[in-house]
Amino acid sequence: MDFLSNKARAIAPYTAGEQLRDRQYIKLNTNENPYPPSPRVARALAAFDADALRLYPRPEADELRAAIARKEGVAPENIFCGNGSDEVLALSFPAFFDGDGAGACFADLTYSFYEVFAAFFGIPKTIVPLKGDFTLDLDAMRAVPCAGYYIANPNAPTGVGVAREEMERFVASVPDRLVVLDEAYMDFFGESCTPLTQKYANVLVVKTFSKSYSLAGIRCGYAVGNRSLIAGLMRMKDCFNSYPVDSVAQAVCTAAVADGAYYAEATGKVVSERERLAVALRGMGFTVPESRSNFLFAGRAKVSGKEIYTRLKAAGVLVRFWDKPVLCDFVRITVGTPAQNDVLLQQLQKILS
Ligand code: PMP
Repeated sequence: MDFLSNKARAIAPYTAGEQLRDRQYIKLNTNENPYPPSPRVARALAAFDADALRLYPRPEADELRAAIARKEGVAPENIFCGNGSDEVLALSFPAFFDGDGAGACFADLTYSFYEVFAAFFGIPKTIVPLKGDFTLDLDAMRAVPCAGYYIANPNAPTGVGVAREEMERFVASVPDRLVVLDEAYMDFFGESCTPLTQKYANVLVVKTFSKSYSLAGIRCGYAVGNRSLIAGLMRMKDCFNSYPVDSVAQAVCTAAVADGAYYAEATGKVVSERERLAVALRGMGFTVPESRSNFLFAGRAKVSGKEIYTRLKAAGVLVRFWDKPVLCDFVRITVGTPAQNDVLLQQLQKILS
């Protein structure tokens, strides 16, 4: 006897990147930041009063929302915080899409959780292929009769970005459809559409502390949008988990978001290494679309993604590989420190010779 529902039985869950502990790896497979969080984070943790853990956290993370609002140049009412941006994205599906409605539209090669959330919440989906050069086909997406869009910008796993101006033209052209912009990697690009949330009622921007803030272990993400969109997310939160962001996370993220100078420097280091790695990989014969994120999508004729992944793993370097059409010719490599990237390049050189 098993108690699984038909839904649980039928759904294909998201597959997260490997979090192996069997040996020490150079871990370049889940787009974590190679640099530590701001020193203010360690200070906030040290100052945290354990007795405060007796109490539930602030259900709406008010102090954190105020700190994020200051950084984003909006009001606290324009911010919603959740347990990782995955949770914020998840809640947006039942908040803004109906099972018997026109559904959500997204690219074929994009963050694969969108498809899982659509299935989980019973929302119809339309999938639009990327163009041959891995750029988004916004014209084809506009032509799809749908209730809204999920667009990762920069996109994952390709790293390709859409400039704010082009995104604004798209958003303005579909005023009756919600455009959810997943900006998990936007700090490595610098073309955030959060200003558009003040101008267009149909834009919801979702961000995370996991990547540019070096806080993947904390699980906190947020949305920026007009009051009515944020109220919709709050409503869904209170149907699922009233306290999604724990007290420690609220304290740590409030400290982190105030240290713009530290993070600007760390992000700059990642971006300059990204450019160095892209040049080196292309020099080795890899095809690498121009990345605006903290990772590179790299494929090479005559060597499968699987072979590169497997041989790098044996050498102690973890990268991401998917055994799926198109993706199987590539690996996704998170930008590491200069020393980590040097090891990666040496090992690739060995594999190719
Ligand atoms: N969006 C994209 C495009 C991602 O790659 C990730 C990381 N897997 C997320 C959202 C979720 O990040 P988190 O839940 O850690 O905020």
